[in-house]
Amino acid sequence: MWTGRAVQCPGPFLFDSREISSYLLREAADRYIVSSGKHDTCEFGNMAKKEKTQDKDSKTAQSGEKAETQFGFQAEVARLLQLMVHSVYSEKDIFLRELISNSADACDKLRYAAITKPELLADEPDLRITLSVDEDAKTLSISDNGIGMGRAELIDNLGTIARSGTRAFLKVAEKKGGDAPSVIGQFGVGFYSAFMVANRVDVLSRKAGAKSAHVWTSDGVNGFNVSKATKAQEEEVPRGTVVTLHMKDDALDYLKESELARIVRAYSDHIPFHIDFLATVESKEEPHQLNSASALWTRPKADVTADQYKELYHHVGGLFDEPALTIHYRAEGRHEYTVLLFVPTMAPFDLYDPSRAGRVRLYVRRVFITDDADLLPAYLRFVRGIVDSEDVPLNISREMLQNNPIVAAIRTGVTNRVLSELEKLAKDDTEKFESFWETFGAVVKEGLYEDMERRDALFELARFRSSHGDGWRTLKAYIADLRPNQTAIYYMTGNSQEQIAASPQLEGFAARGVEVLYLSDPVDNFWVTTTLGFEGKPFQSITQGDIDLSAIPLPEDKGEESERKDASDPDTVKLVEKLKSLFADELTDVRASARLVESPACLVAPAEGPDRGLDKFLEKQAGQGGAKPVLEINPSHDLVKALSKSKADAFDDIAWLLLDQARILEGTLPENPGKFAERLNRLVLDGQK
Ligand code: ADP
Repeated sequence: MWTGRAVQCPGPFLFDSREISSYLLREAADRYIVSSGKHDTCEFGNMAKKEKTQDKDSKTAQSGEKAETQFGFQAEVARLLQLMVHSVYSEKDIFLRELISNSADACDKLRYAAITKPELLADEPDLRITLSVDEDAKTLSISDNGIGMGRAELIDNLGTIARSGTRAFLKVAEKKGGDAPSVIGQFGVGFYSAFMVANRVDVLSRKAGAKSAHVWTSDGVNGFNVSKATKAQEEEVPRGTVVTLHMKDDALDYLKESELARIVRAYSDHIPFHIDFLATVESKEEPHQLNSASALWTRPKADVTADQYKELYHHVGGLFDEPALTIHYRAEGRHEYTVLLFVPTMAPFDLYDPSRAGRVRLYVRRVFITDDADLLPAYLRFVRGIVDSEDVPLNISREMLQNNPIVAAIRTGVTNRVLSELEKLAKDDTEKFESFWETFGAVVKEGLYEDMERRDALFELARFRSSHGDGWRTLKAYIADLRPNQTAIYYMTGNSQEQIAASPQLEGFAARGVEVLYLSDPVDNFWVTTTLGFEGKPFQSITQGDIDLSAIPLPEDKGEESERKDASDPDTVKLVEKLKSLFADELTDVRASARLVESPACLVAPAEGPDRGLDKFLEKQAGQGGAKPVLEINPSHDLVKALSKSKADAFDDIAWLLLDQARILEGTLPENPGKFAERLNRLVLDGQK
């Protein structure tokens, strides 16, 4: 949940945490999603939380009953359907999982609606899902007596409203090929998987409490048709939805009970409603129940198998990987609630969605209430699962949940538990934890500036890359390896580990064996400027201010320090003055550097204000940066010595080259690339003479 808290940065910077998040999400879009492919299943900017059309009238369909009945699919839906209709996918079973999952959601929604309107359930209080087959007609029907859909919802939900996940799924399908359908549910477009096995799909639906029913029908190719149901059809659906699949010839196996039972056991056993099998709709036989239909989370841990956990995770998480961590417990005391949470292994496609919404489902005594209750802070939004409370009043409105003290207590308890379980994972299984951190660390670090209360716990979890080798480092390990007289935790921000590792600013630190953290996630720019430090040591950017490392001894094998020219050397003083006047418009200052060993020059930020990384970030995202930097030169470097001695006509060229080189090493272009090339050419040609 956003606090909207303002956070103080060094210098005159005051950010609103919402502002930070908008920068971060934009940057994540540029960096993770578009360029690196790290999260390339994500469709940033097009991912407003899935529109909930369930309770509102559709614009598309407002024209009323007599209006058009034939509709075209929204363009991306049509492309998706093309993939499904001509499917060469081997994993076709999942169509049933998706349709059953939709039916279960519809039952959940009705049960919730009936809390305030019990009459909706009155005639048929038993919520159930039924699979029935007609071998002669080659049809399989999946029916439920859940909330149902009105005409407008049929049109919107099944064809015309582009869902954020549609395009994202298309991308994955292109990449994954044959495996794509297994993950379709994650993208909120699972219904369309029916067209892998059916050449026509009819959806007959009656909204709970409505007088009439409607039929949606389509071959998945030529748009879809919506019409009022006939009398006979209306009788078939007193409430809820019947999805009838006209099976393709190569999918007739799905008409066998044994096949359906196998799939239900594999994917839908945990669905907390009966799933029955009926040989035919008219059959007089008793239906067979195919699933165990119990709320898995209410069972003791010892009675739940790993496969059952996984299956529930797939259903409630809409994710289809192995959970990296399963957290199942019952809290007792002032408030009683059951928690079953999963930390995914892979990043969900909407990890950087601007809404930053979590998806943990709140149940009250087994009744699904909402997945919008922000049961975890936004920086844990990737966690999926269920919290089932015994004490929250059942008839609480979704709006009231935000301020309910019991929900607040649950939120605190569950958040602390997730963090302590992650901490435990870090201790017990380093490899697994590090792979978790690789995927979700950038998101968890948002908590470092948003959640002051748990900052210490988050610091314990945080892992960093650094100048000390390739592995991950903890802050504790950093502190344990402090050099004598080292008073700060040094870091550098940048766009990538490689760019940071190649920075000249690191040289003086490397020479003294001082570890520097490499912070390359956009979020690092913010938390690092808003925290006071760790174990009494402040965080200090190595690209800001005048850093004096002289108190930190050089390792014994690097005793050549005394041979280095220092700032008081008369040549250096003269050179610095000349450079200051040449670059009066470009720079705040010029000085001899304590940071440089191998390189001739580098840029750093003035002591006040953002460091170089944050400055560039703000300039790009908010148009606010662009502070003039300080040029530091290395008086012992041959190029700088040559500059000192150069004749008037070459001086400007070499000096500009020095400045532009420092810019390039920072990952920016020379201010005037044409002039840069001109000067370089001139110097090379002069050298030939
Ligand atoms: P998802 O279920 O992930 O939202 P789908 O493409 O499977 O995506 O379904 C689209 C929408 O159609 C659902 O969100 C729901 O509003 C509606 N819907 C689908 N099946 C049913 C059903 N059996 N009963 C009521 N509504 C349904």
